[in-house]
Amino acid sequence: MTDTLVASLHTPFGRFTDGSLACEDVDLAEIARIHGTPTYVYSATAIEHAYDRLDRAYAGVPHLICYAMKACANLAVLALLGRRGAGADIVSGGELFRALRAGIPADRIVFAGVGKTREEIRQALAAEILMFTIESPQELDAIQFVAAEMGTTARIAIRVNPDVDPQTHPYISTGLKKSKFGVPHEQVVNLYLRAADLPNVEPCGIQCHIGSQLVHLDPICDAVDRVSELAADVARRGIGLRYLDIGGGLAIRYRGDDPEGPEAVAAHIANRASALGLSLIMEPGRFLVGNAGALLTRVIYTKANGARKFVIVDAAMNDLIRPSLYDSFHEIAPVQVRRGANETVDLVGPVCESGDFFAHDRPMPPLEPQDLVAILSAGAYGHVMASNYNARPRAAEVLVRGGEVRLVRARETYEDLVRGEVL
Ligand SMILES: *Cc1c(COP(=O)(O)O)cnc(C)c1O
Repeated sequence: MTDTLVASLHTPFGRFTDGSLACEDVDLAEIARIHGTPTYVYSATAIEHAYDRLDRAYAGVPHLICYAMKACANLAVLALLGRRGAGADIVSGGELFRALRAGIPADRIVFAGVGKTREEIRQALAAEILMFTIESPQELDAIQFVAAEMGTTARIAIRVNPDVDPQTHPYISTGLKKSKFGVPHEQVVNLYLRAADLPNVEPCGIQCHIGSQLVHLDPICDAVDRVSELAADVARRGIGLRYLDIGGGLAIRYRGDDPEGPEAVAAHIANRASALGLSLIMEPGRFLVGNAGALLTRVIYTKANGARKFVIVDAAMNDLIRPSLYDSFHEIAPVQVRRGANETVDLVGPVCESGDFFAHDRPMPPLEPQDLVAILSAGAYGHVMASNYNARPRAAEVLVRGGEVRLVRARETYEDLVRGEVL
């Protein structure tokens, strides 16, 4: 069913025997015909498989999977994961609003981020979320202040900066001393002692998140070991915690890479939690949705500037910024593969920036105007990072299950582009 290009990836995208690229049982050409391009296509089954895989890896211990919704915040995706049992890891008041709107129970929501405003803290306390992760002494004071004002108690975990190198891209490394995230590990115990003295704050967990797309998971184990020592220290001082939150960071396949799966470290981490008598919380984002999504786009023109061949498609960096921002690699598959020798091309969008590209020097089968291509592994940090740059309406999103396609976000209109503006 699948050709080698696509079969090398663990994705729900494969080929029908007539050669056409499909998501689950739906031909991508059919999706383009009905919903237009560019369109994000997600597989419900693939998202559920990823969730179940992680859930199974930790089946032996109490655990809660809080989906890091910044990876893909579509309401239908959130609702699907919520029905499966997931909570949400949020980083803003807007994400709280979305998570609640999608039906994720507040007592499964954890709130991360270095810059929570008082208003956001108020909203989260009013919703009665599970806990806040605290990233600085000033934030702890702000949470105490708002909780006192509201006559309530805020449950908190301190986010530890364990100073371990996650060996990933610098923009998605968060657990090094030089990064803005978390509380330096040597200050953590004192901050718990301070928190325990505050009347409207209840320390209930400890958290770390060291980075994203961690192809090797040893650094997570190192971080969890460091955090576990701190948790034991905190317990010895009479502060009883309930949750060990290990953050996210599990990697997906973008090209040939073969990331370690959660099974590789589950026993180690589960043992740590059990020894401390803590329930596990994990915050996967990319792992749950990354390989489950693709950006479907159509070739507008091809051209040659000297020796360089360009394929210009109707998606651009405003739709998927990962190649421009992180120089990241995405497999690109034509929906119908034309016969002929591969050509080395740059696949680019129409935005007026040289940084607007999806691939450089990529060998591709021949492509002609009107051909469809799918940019694979685009389910995470795709549509959520989209902008209206160049006054481009943001793409539609569809959710596939089996042979069914559901439009879960309409393409923006020109009127959407000017909403709220005044002449
Ligand atoms: C971004 C983020 C995650 C998710 O990271 P992934 O690499 O997508 O799994 C989890 N926790 C926190 C605090 C984050 O900021």
